[in-house]
Amino acid sequence: MRLKDKVTLITGAGSGIGRSSALLFAKEGAIVAVNDLDAAKAEETVGLIREEGGQAFAVRADVTDPAEAEEMVGLVKENKGRIDVLFNNAGISGVGRLHEIEPDAWERVMNVNIRGVYLPSKYVLPIMMEQRGGSIIHMSSCIAEIGLAQRASYAATKGAVLALAKSMQVDYAPYNIRVNAILPGTILTPFVENYLKTSYDDPEAAIASLKRRQLSGELGRPEDVAKAALFLASDESAFMMGSPLYIDGGVVFG
Ligand code: NAD
Repeated sequence: MRLKDKVTLITGAGSGIGRSSALLFAKEGAIVAVNDLDAAKAEETVGLIREEGGQAFAVRADVTDPAEAEEMVGLVKENKGRIDVLFNNAGISGVGRLHEIEPDAWERVMNVNIRGVYLPSKYVLPIMMEQRGGSIIHMSSCIAEIGLAQRASYAATKGAVLALAKSMQVDYAPYNIRVNAILPGTILTPFVENYLKTSYDDPEAAIASLKRRQLSGELGRPEDVAKAALFLASDESAFMMGSPLYIDGGVVFG
């Protein structure tokens, strides 16, 4: 078991990649704190983990709210005594060319995708510093490295969290804390399905066009990203520090 008894907190784990990671981490022996804004979705993930004999509990919180983020981290520490892994996975989409994005919509994407990484990290770091160890994973995206139409606000946030991972790594390496980032390509999750439905008249044609961008010819699955997160969470990636890990079917280099 690659995460035996490791206490892991995954944000946005009520759906998609976060849920898939929570299930895989639990299979590998982790005790998983399942965060989501939506309590019912978090409980559903916990139910799925328990059905398979894994250990998990739900911690509902809005990761953009300082009081809720602090309380969430405090609850995990209080319950389990430590936090070994933080996977900052929660995120939302943002669509539009820059001049078309209203300030409120811009702020929403910045809030969830950057502030929602900053706050859980801020409250987890002192715990990991005291433990003198931990692994933090930020969810970036291949969009941090390649230009895509209509994705200005979203791309800006994903570039920011990649930079954040590198900068944090320098500050916290002396405490044996690793901070890495995952850069997925297009992964078929509710997040992408919603984006396709709301942004294209013909979502099937949009999927076909996305597939053509991949060297693999296929879109990714949540499990593909969960496996990468497991690797970064575990000691198997001990020599990875401040690194971007691409899980993108070759879209960045294709
Ligand atoms: P998803 O929509 O299926 O899941 C995201 C979860 O985050 C949802 O359950 C949602 O309720 C939760 N969430 C949203 N705001 C929150 C908040 N303020 N506090 C707590 N939870 C909140 O999405 P997904 O596709 O699984 O994406 C997960 C992450 O992966 C996101 O950061 C996304 O940007 C990133 N990503 C996804 C893709 C993709 O193609 N799916 C590609 C690259 C990066």
